[in-house]
Amino acid sequence: MFSKRLREVAIGAGAGVSGRIPGRFGMAHLLNRSCSLRCVVFHHIAAQPTPFTTGIRVTVSPRTFESALQFLTKHYTPVSLDDVLTDCGGRGLPLRPVLLTFDDAYASIAEVAAPLCRKYGVPAVFFVNAAFVNNRRMAPDNLVCYVAHFAGMDVVNAAIREVPGREDVVCRGLTEVFGSFFPTLSLKQRELFLHALCRLAEIDDSRLAKEANLYLTGHQLRNLGCYGFEVGNHTYSHTHCRSLSHREVVAEIMTNKSELESICGRRVRSFSQPYGSSKDVTGTVEECLRQSGHEAVFLSESVANQRNANPFRLDRVSTCAASDEALFFELEVLPRLRAHRNQLHRKAGSVQAAELRPQ
Ligand SMILES: [Zn+2]
Repeated sequence: MFSKRLREVAIGAGAGVSGRIPGRFGMAHLLNRSCSLRCVVFHHIAAQPTPFTTGIRVTVSPRTFESALQFLTKHYTPVSLDDVLTDCGGRGLPLRPVLLTFDDAYASIAEVAAPLCRKYGVPAVFFVNAAFVNNRRMAPDNLVCYVAHFAGMDVVNAAIREVPGREDVVCRGLTEVFGSFFPTLSLKQRELFLHALCRLAEIDDSRLAKEANLYLTGHQLRNLGCYGFEVGNHTYSHTHCRSLSHREVVAEIMTNKSELESICGRRVRSFSQPYGSSKDVTGTVEECLRQSGHEAVFLSESVANQRNANPFRLDRVSTCAASDEALFFELEVLPRLRAHRNQLHRKAGSVQAAELRPQ
C-alpha cells in the first residue's frame, strides 16, 4: 500500500503542475491506455464521523459525496452492474466507465446516498451484511471503534488476550486490529473476542445496536431494490475469509445471499470481500461463490482494472477524497502506479524464482 506521505505528495504535485482537471485526462490516458472500468466504493455518508466510525476512514460528508457525483457524471460514464456483466449488451463499455458501489449497509446510504444517486442518474451496487439489518447487533468494526474510543486500546487488548492462542498479541491501534489481528481469526475466535470485548466494556451489544441505529432496516433495503439499485453480498457478519473453514465460508456466503434475497425479492449476484483484500478470495471462497450463482467479485485494493478484467477480481478505489483534485489522483494516477508496482514485484519474484531453480 502507498504511504500516506507519498499519496499526499502525488496529490500535491498534481494539483500544482496540472491545469484544469479535464486537461489532465490526456495525461492519465497516456499513463496506461489499456485501463478500463473504474470502480469506486463509499461507505458511510454523514456530516461527521461518530464514535462508531472515528478512525476507520469510512465517513464522507453529503456535500463531498455530491461533489464526487458531479465530478463522476461530468468526466465519466456511470454504468450499472448489468452493463459490466453484459459488457453493455456486447457493445462494449462506454468511454471512461465508472461503477459506484457502497459497502457495509449503513442507513445513511438509503437516507442520503441513494436519493443523491437518483438525482444524478447514477446506478449503484449496495453490498450488505444481513446480520446487521434492522440493527440487531453491532458490526465488529463499529463495536471495536466504539470501545477504543470510550474505553481505550487497553480494553481492546484485554479482549484480544482472551482468545486462545492470542495471549501475546498486542495491537497499538485500530489499523493493527483490522489489518493484522482480524484476518487470522476463525469465526468462532472472532465471536470469543467480541463477546469478551462487550463484557469488559460493559456493553449490551443488541441494545447498543438499537440505540446507535447505524444500519439499514429491511424496509430500506427492499426499497433500494425497488428503485433499481442492485443489492450485493458482503458476507453475513463482515468477515475476512482466509482463515475460515469450508463450512464457515459456505455459511457466511450462502446465509447472507439467501437472507438478502428473501428481504429484497431479487437475485443477489455480486460479492464484495470485506476489507477488500485478494488474499481473502481463496479457492474455497471462489468455488462457493461460483456454485451459488455469483457473477462478480469486488475487491478494494485500489489497483487499476485492465480492459477485459476478470469479473471475479474487479478492483475498486476506496475514497474519502475531499476535492476533485484528490479524487482525480485516487482514480486515475495512484491505481496505475500500484498496478505497475505490482507488475514489477511479480517480475522480480519470477526472476528470483528462476535464479533459485536448480540448474
Ligand atoms: Zn465492509
